[in-house]
Amino acid sequence: MMEKFVLASNNKKKIRELRTILGRLLPECTVYSLSDIGFEGDIEENGTSFEENSIIKASVPARLGYIGVADDSGLCVDALGGAPGIYSARYSGKGDRENNIKLLSELEGKEDRGAGFVCVMSAVFPDGRIVTARGEVRGTILTAPRGDDGFGYDPLFYCPEIGKTFAEASAEEKNAVSHRGRALAAFCEKLRGIIC
Ligand code: IMP
Repeated sequence: MMEKFVLASNNKKKIRELRTILGRLLPECTVYSLSDIGFEGDIEENGTSFEENSIIKASVPARLGYIGVADDSGLCVDALGGAPGIYSARYSGKGDRENNIKLLSELEGKEDRGAGFVCVMSAVFPDGRIVTARGEVRGTILTAPRGDDGFGYDPLFYCPEIGKTFAEASAEEKNAVSHRGRALAAFCEKLRGIIC
């Protein structure tokens, strides 16, 4: 049976990436966006964890009769008690560059540079069933950015598993170890047990 997923995001890059990965891992699925189903409103992410926020987002298409899918992700820095965490996108109140500058200044003089990216993927079904999967990758925060690719905190995040920052890695290198790649693999595995 062809299952219809609606990704609770209007971020075109994210929709394209998830369409490709979900399409490869779960060929019996098609992925639509919120605008494909005529939903143009904003979703307030007022949860207190990655899990809660992804479920809040995925519940929107589910209430309209579709299988809702959403992710929530961020960077958790050990010496900052897990900040910026769920507030990663809005850490400085400005853009990626300012977020990185704020992170460097918060870590100035701190010896512990350990950090992890976290991603939680959730599916909410119209009958209320919920499937979630979490992916994590550990690394360290450098004292200066390195690399030109990627987005967000990628230039400051050194990943020992690939021996470079995420901004120096190709998309394939990053996806193979990243929080999002890992969450998606676990998510598809769980979904396969339910819908196939
Ligand atoms: P979102 O909620 O998944 O859209 O992402 C939250 C924020 O976390 C992003 O705006 C980035 O600041 C940060 N983030 C999440 N994943 C990554 C990543 O793979 N690289 C760099 N930054 C990331």
